[in-house]
Amino acid sequence: MFNLILFGPPGSGKGTQSEKLIAKYGLKHLSTGDLLRSEISHQTPLGKEAQNFMDKGQLVPDEVVIGMISSALDGNPNAKGFLFDGFPRTAAQAEALDKLLELKNAPIAVMLALEVSEAELIKRLLKRGETSGRSDDNNENVIRARITEYHNKTAVVADYYKQFEKVEMVKGEGSIDEIFDRLCKEIDKRA
Ligand code: ADP
Repeated sequence: MFNLILFGPPGSGKGTQSEKLIAKYGLKHLSTGDLLRSEISHQTPLGKEAQNFMDKGQLVPDEVVIGMISSALDGNPNAKGFLFDGFPRTAAQAEALDKLLELKNAPIAVMLALEVSEAELIKRLLKRGETSGRSDDNNENVIRARITEYHNKTAVVADYYKQFEKVEMVKGEGSIDEIFDRLCKEIDKRA
């Protein structure tokens, strides 16, 4: 099993690159943002709870997303590997993920961390907001709140994996294909 985390701030291109990576490497894509939006569109109790946080640009509580990931792992017993996108986003989520993967004897192989300047992030998110239908993308205050959450709670997740020498920083600016090539090089070194 090959398990990979694609890491980076909101707007760093995780979703775009994930689509290309799962196609090339045959991994199962687990995006907590997508899973949460699906819960919201089905108006489930979990979705209704999550929406209050997401509308403000805040992280959804750890136990909610950890439970969701745990079910997704159980629901895909034959996966060749998982690509985690937007998860883990806090130190507690990282520790919980390690425990879940320990049970499967399939640790995280590598965390690829996309680096993008803040000005570029805001530009990309506002542009995505014009067409994505995501209400958290067309309000600059909500975008800034998400970036603040990233600095306060999520950036430490990279430090967590650095202890185990699992982090590779990847420049997240340039063309989609250039960035994809950089990511593939890092994966091929470790796969
Ligand atoms: P982006 O990376 O552009 O912020 P996502 O789709 O990954 O987009 O996340 C959208 C929102 O969903 C986040 O702002 C947050 O409220 C919630 N969310 C997604 N993943 C997590 C997570 N692992 N922990 C807590 N909240 C999350």
